[in-house]
Amino acid sequence: MSQVSSTVKTASPATRSKADTGRREGRAASLTTPVNLFTVDLEEWFHICGVGGDLDPVNWDRLPSRVEQTTRLLLDLLDEAQAPATFFIVGWVAERHPRVIDEVRAAGHTIGSHSYSHTRAYDLGPAAFEEDLRRSVRTLADAGAGDVWCFRAPEWSINNRSLWALETLAAEGFRVDASMAPLKMVGDPAYPRAPHHRPTARGAVLEVPPLVADRFGQVMPMGWGWGLRMSAPSRVTRAIADANRRGLGAVLTVHPWEIDPDPPRVRLRPSLHFAHYFRLSGFRERLREVLRSTTFGRLDDLTASTT
Ligand SMILES: [Zn+2]
Repeated sequence: MSQVSSTVKTASPATRSKADTGRREGRAASLTTPVNLFTVDLEEWFHICGVGGDLDPVNWDRLPSRVEQTTRLLLDLLDEAQAPATFFIVGWVAERHPRVIDEVRAAGHTIGSHSYSHTRAYDLGPAAFEEDLRRSVRTLADAGAGDVWCFRAPEWSINNRSLWALETLAAEGFRVDASMAPLKMVGDPAYPRAPHHRPTARGAVLEVPPLVADRFGQVMPMGWGWGLRMSAPSRVTRAIADANRRGLGAVLTVHPWEIDPDPPRVRLRPSLHFAHYFRLSGFRERLREVLRSTTFGRLDDLTASTT
């Protein structure tokens, strides 16, 4: 694999959504390197990998949907901050809520796939992963998402157990993957923290890792999940500035359910309960502050040049 530096190019107006706002255009165009990315895994609150019982996929259609309301809250925050984002959308959601896809697209954000069934890549295996990926692309296309060329696996599940998935992505025409976390819990701390090319037999994929930080002698998920929710906005923006000083763009990730003012509560085993519910309170406000104090670019603006 080869490390790449990230540079900004100004996309031609023809490549941008017509609904894109001039304000956002101006902000994205004025970016300097490196490029920080704000990403969203657009899924329902019950899309939690590896749980059965009430949250088993066979029950999903009977559970209360919160995705439309919470995605709108997130779109409002992004609009306020004039921040472009990349939405990795679960196909199952696109099939049931095509209106949400319209709204995300109309706001000028980039759309990628977050699988169809929200199952981990290594749990699916190569054949089922390919089938699930194709189904996600079909459902996103049917919902009006346009060309989909970037992917994030549920629960950062492209890791040493499932590197074959990168070849499948390349074969299916995906140019960017954002599934490999440099973190022991879900990935490997040895993975590069900067965007890098991952060669496969079907061509290279640009891997765009999420922001981690070294704290208390450990690597922590500064850019997403409990790590982002527990951190004061000033600490998050400092971590982003530190990464930028080292030449790294910071990649942040949130879920619509994390800013739900009235999140449904279910019983989960302790580790999952922590990952899902820890410090949700006030997160919307903290996120607003991070969005206001950081400049984000487009995934489309991240071009790769081998160094
Ligand atoms: Zn997910």
